Amino acid sequence: MQLSLRQEQIVDIVKRYGPITGQQIAEKLKLSRAAIRPDLTVLTMSGILEARPRVGYYLSSKPTEALVAGEIKKIKVGQVKGVPRVIRSEASVYDAIVTMFLEDVGTLIVVDEGGKLDGVISRKDLLKAAIGGGDLQRMPVSVVMTRWPNIVVTTAEETVLAAALKIIEHEVDALPVVRPETDRLKSPEVVGRITKTTITRLFVELGGGR
Ligand code: ADP
Repeated sequence: MQLSLRQEQIVDIVKRYGPITGQQIAEKLKLSRAAIRPDLTVLTMSGILEARPRVGYYLSSKPTEALVAGEIKKIKVGQVKGVPRVIRSEASVYDAIVTMFLEDVGTLIVVDEGGKLDGVISRKDLLKAAIGGGDLQRMPVSVVMTRWPNIVVTTAEETVLAAALKIIEHEVDALPVVRPETDRLKSPEVVGRITKTTITRLFVELGGGR
């Protein structure tokens, strides 16, 4: 359920001042009691607010799905993205393995000299190269990486929820965060990354675990 802007304002007011009467909420919004009546009905019916006669409105002690979803949907990739861990496409598979250990990550983003996205290389890509028996010191990562434009990306403006959905649907561990590029064939500039760990950390924060 998506709350309207006014409904969100009402929830904020109740959060700060509750218990508070409908009349007082209306005054804070510089609206009439009648104007906000439908919003109060929606908010109480959906279980976000509770109302008691002669006491007023207060936040439900059980945060509802709608409220939690509303908060999550506000968080943008730009607020949580991490530094991109990159490697150049001419680097060797051997270098990629060493970089993965040094950077302590499971996915490296492959970029050209201008920082534009060339591809992504994961642990399994490197394992595949390793069991293939070639010379890992000479084999460039560009041979084993997944290449642009077959890369699932996100942008700073996208919601974390949408990015998390992409991670699940495409069964990958990480997404490069890129500057939006209108031409789909042109590689975009890499500005960050978001991983399953980013999402897990956010989940813990939202749950009050840290
Ligand atoms: P792992 O190799 O540890 O299982 P992933 O599940 O992320 O890691 O990678 C699986 C495959 O998907 C690899 O071939 C990898 O190159 C590719 N891949 C990883 N991230 C992306 C992405 N964002 N977009 C497209 N392909 C990706």
